[in-house]
Amino acid sequence: MAKAAYKVIALKYRPQTFEDMAGQGHIKQALSGAITRNKIAHAFLFAGSRGTGKTTSARILAKALNCLAGDGPTVKPCGQCAACKEIAESRDMDVLEIDGASNNGVEQVRELLGNIENRPARDRFRVVIIDEVHMLSTAAFNALLKTLEEPPAHVKFIFATTDAHKVPETIHSRCQHYDFRRLTNAEIAACLEDICIKESVKVEPGALLAIASISEGGMRDAQSKLDQLIAFRGEKVALKDVEEVFGLVGQARLVELLGLLRAGDTRGVFTFVEDVFSSGKDLRSFLVGLIGTLRDALLLATCGAEIRTLDMTGDARAVLEKEAKQWSSESLVYAIDMLNECGRYLKSSEYPRVALESALFKLCRIGDLRPIEDVIAAVEALIAQSPAPAAPTSAAMAPADKKKVLASDELPVVVPAAAVPYPQEGRSAPVQPPRPAPVRGGELPESFAKAKALIQEVFNVSEEHLS
Ligand SMILES: [Zn+2]
Repeated sequence: MAKAAYKVIALKYRPQTFEDMAGQGHIKQALSGAITRNKIAHAFLFAGSRGTGKTTSARILAKALNCLAGDGPTVKPCGQCAACKEIAESRDMDVLEIDGASNNGVEQVRELLGNIENRPARDRFRVVIIDEVHMLSTAAFNALLKTLEEPPAHVKFIFATTDAHKVPETIHSRCQHYDFRRLTNAEIAACLEDICIKESVKVEPGALLAIASISEGGMRDAQSKLDQLIAFRGEKVALKDVEEVFGLVGQARLVELLGLLRAGDTRGVFTFVEDVFSSGKDLRSFLVGLIGTLRDALLLATCGAEIRTLDMTGDARAVLEKEAKQWSSESLVYAIDMLNECGRYLKSSEYPRVALESALFKLCRIGDLRPIEDVIAAVEALIAQSPAPAAPTSAAMAPADKKKVLASDELPVVVPAAAVPYPQEGRSAPVQPPRPAPVRGGELPESFAKAKALIQEVFNVSEEHLS
């Protein structure tokens, strides 16, 4: 007997009911509620990044509307009746599905809607599903709009898009809008674990989280990566297999890199990047992994070791817990922001390696950074020690602005903003707070000199800007 054809995981385990779907609780709840209360809109817009379940939901909704097991739409389509089966296999005559990317012309839309006025052949509703609807041409949108403005009662439209802002407002305003969120790594890993059990594949839990973290919230990507791993390793998949197959830098190595950055070891960091580059690892995945590690460190630094929603597992996690204690949360946030910025640049850069090295080089100075609140507090403390201020000379004084004051050449006038009310019409002039007299051309009081030195150091400002 011929062996059954291999079916990819994403198709084999495509959810058939709302209940089966991973994540998107808000959408499942809203759609189920609408069906139960029989308040079903005539047009839906499903928006979200790829692999978040938009077309899967569209098909489940089509089945929920048309399942023949009961007398009307149901939250739990039976999966057995002719309508359920045919919709699952994309061959139901009353459920029309097109891809807007490849059928974006007005002719194709006219053809699709040609006999839409006719009653459904068998089902309760004629359901029109247009995937990637934002790709339709303007003329095609206009053709669609005519039917959308006055749809026959037996027609339901479901549009899916990865780019909701490209869908014309006229279409938007006639649809119920549903935003599909990226799935969390834990949601993806849980779904993959389920599949592994059904497929009798033994897998390290860390391996599934690693797959999830490089799939950036998309289930379909994660499932096809799992397919690839099973093809490569058979029935036993370990974390190191994931790292090997997808060219990832190992978790333990990423924690090591955090240590190098914190120590300001530029030489070590450049050698690290050289290793990553020469071993053919993907720079983007490396960056995603590094940002993920910093995020885990931030969670550990702010929530403590009990935190459970980390991507990192096993030995690497234990080492990261120690490393995270050496970082302030401000430094971690700064590093994450900077690498995110680098990631955006990496996509378009012709020299991704240089972009990455330069970002990491800047991060090597992270040990020198101090939170701005600490700097302001230090400056304020120094000013508080200054000699008693002279009486104010100017009648009109602008409300204080700490940043401006720090950069100004009339140094140092730091007045807490709250102490100076903004002038308002019809009111008497605001009461002036005491203001230290600027000392010019002579000796600065000792505390002023200290404040100045501190500002020079932190903001890297030259002497002539301050004196
Ligand atoms: Zn059914």
